[in-house]
Amino acid sequence: MDSKNQEDCIAPSRRRFLKQAGSVAIASLPLGSPMVFAGSSFANPPESPSSVIRNSVPLAPNAFYLLPLGSVRPTGWLRDQMQIQAKGLGGHLDETWADVGSNSGWLGGTGESWERGPYFLDGLVPLAYLLDDQRLKEKAQKYIDWTLNHQSPDGMIGPTTNTDWWPRMVMIKALAQYQEATGDARVIPVLARYFGYQLRELPNRPLRDWGKFRWQDNALIALWLYNRTGDPHLIELVRLLHQQGYDWQAQFADFKYTTPVTAQMIKLDQDQGLTDFALSTHGVNNGQALKAAPVWSMVSGSDVDRRGFQQMLDALDKYHGLPNGMFSCDEHLAGRNPSQGSELCTVVETMYSLEQSLAVLGDASIGDRLERIAFNALPGTFTDDMWAHQYDQQPNQVEVSLHRKPWTTNGPESNLYGLEPNFGCCTANFHQGWPKFAASLWMASHDGGLAAVAYSPCDVHTVVGSTPVHLSEATEYPFRDLIHITVNPANELSFPLRLRIPSWADGAEVRLNGAPVTIAANEGFAKIERRWKAGDVVQLKFPLRPGLARGYNDSVSIDRGPLVFSYPIGEDWVKLRDRGLTADWQVFPSSQWNYALAVNEKTIAEAPVTEQPVGPSPFSLKEAPVRLQVEARRLESWRAIDGAADPVPQSPVTSDEPPQSITLVPYAAAKLRVTAFPVLKS
Ligand SMILES: [Zn+2]
Repeated sequence: MDSKNQEDCIAPSRRRFLKQAGSVAIASLPLGSPMVFAGSSFANPPESPSSVIRNSVPLAPNAFYLLPLGSVRPTGWLRDQMQIQAKGLGGHLDETWADVGSNSGWLGGTGESWERGPYFLDGLVPLAYLLDDQRLKEKAQKYIDWTLNHQSPDGMIGPTTNTDWWPRMVMIKALAQYQEATGDARVIPVLARYFGYQLRELPNRPLRDWGKFRWQDNALIALWLYNRTGDPHLIELVRLLHQQGYDWQAQFADFKYTTPVTAQMIKLDQDQGLTDFALSTHGVNNGQALKAAPVWSMVSGSDVDRRGFQQMLDALDKYHGLPNGMFSCDEHLAGRNPSQGSELCTVVETMYSLEQSLAVLGDASIGDRLERIAFNALPGTFTDDMWAHQYDQQPNQVEVSLHRKPWTTNGPESNLYGLEPNFGCCTANFHQGWPKFAASLWMASHDGGLAAVAYSPCDVHTVVGSTPVHLSEATEYPFRDLIHITVNPANELSFPLRLRIPSWADGAEVRLNGAPVTIAANEGFAKIERRWKAGDVVQLKFPLRPGLARGYNDSVSIDRGPLVFSYPIGEDWVKLRDRGLTADWQVFPSSQWNYALAVNEKTIAEAPVTEQPVGPSPFSLKEAPVRLQVEARRLESWRAIDGAADPVPQSPVTSDEPPQSITLVPYAAAKLRVTAFPVLKS
């Protein structure tokens, strides 16, 4: 494909915005020459690197607090998966993609100077420190050092070629994580000066465009700093961001965007720039906004604000929800048809919002949703080696090609697996998905204990009170039903341990040193409060039964615990072009896919399940650790047009084709897939 066609593929709203951002940047130069601070080494690691920092008055207390980055380290399959990321694009992007390469504006160069450098860092920093990977730490350090050492005298950070607040909202997230992992003494003064600048400057240069709709990410890090410095100006700054930012709670208190958004609706054809309507229905903005109400509730202390999270999630589910745990956004809200797509940026931003919202609210159901996205939508949109990703993934994805797809506004490259299909935001931003999930598995509770909010194999080093505590979580969950947690306090110590009981886990069992524990299920967490001693063992068993969820046109999707299952269509991979160290791929179907299932809520529980060992590439098709068999018949009338499956037909359906048994695999293992099926009339 030539460069003109490639240009045509860029989401028009993004392309227009970049042009606008460029003209703004020229008009508002200069900020003054950057002042270089002497020395880039950091000699003051934190005295107690694992200590948990809680909300300070007047902020409302959280239910839980994230542990400082590095406290939770992946083990088992999760570490394998993060190693795949490090060996793939995640650990090599700067070597093959100029936008985050040596000429990046975030390294003082003349290259890309907007969101891509910060996006890359926001995932590279936690990936590097959770894997304790020196090569990746050194990569991240270059951008961190440049940013910390080139703060303007007035407090502004980042490339001087633009003054947009938005890319800085991402960089401050990366800096906060880096501070937690290293204790680098430069970070807090730089952030304090930057937020001081922002407080002075925002009245003259208020939030606009992306920054206006993503203010809560800025507010979150201002509150992070407040809890470390106690400077009341930071609360003032958060109030100003809230005042200037988009009112997401009002949008979802009376949600009007209940149908798929079209290009005509957002007036892309009228060259009006980005309207509030376009930005408020933009998928990534909505993913980020899921944390808006919880973040603001820390300042307001209001239960109405706390409830804003569920109100927003319920509305997105009701009108735009998909069986992989996501809402449709290709790249604006696109309804419930499972042939619509979800953008990868929205996947990772929704995960991050869920992690932060779970900490504030302590609602166990948020952990259920986080796992559903992390174990399905996230790995499902990468090649097994994580060298290529999609912009848009579809639950019913029957072809990956340049055929025009039913996207609301995205271009024809959107579901290719490649370096930067459609637009390079996801290329820069996907890195945060796995590392932040790993970092969020365990949290500190408001009452001085620890909480398992999502499950995967990991090791935790933290402190409870002033006592070091080591937890070791051994499990092959979500592929298996057993979780084995060893508690090792340095001294015998009393504290509450909370264990999330997933809402689907009927008959969940909790054992303490072999003896059954009664579960108080009404809180969504089993709480064990006792005097813990080294070697205490908690065992969890979550019965993984095949289940059934109803969706668009009364279709069904099959799950087993947090894993969603799909029919794996035969895949014929065709390289479209080489892209430096990687390549862009189309995938064409080499088998039939149009099946209707003979299932109901009772029979699905008895579906035959086969297991194979959990290998080093657990989300690949060849290593799929679990498979299900279901009864089906072909449905000839269900077709694809131009590579996109027709909307799943209204159930129930009838078919005269012979009955057959088909095998389903985890969603992520099937790069071509059917996830939402019509149901045969019984
Ligand atoms: Zn993106």
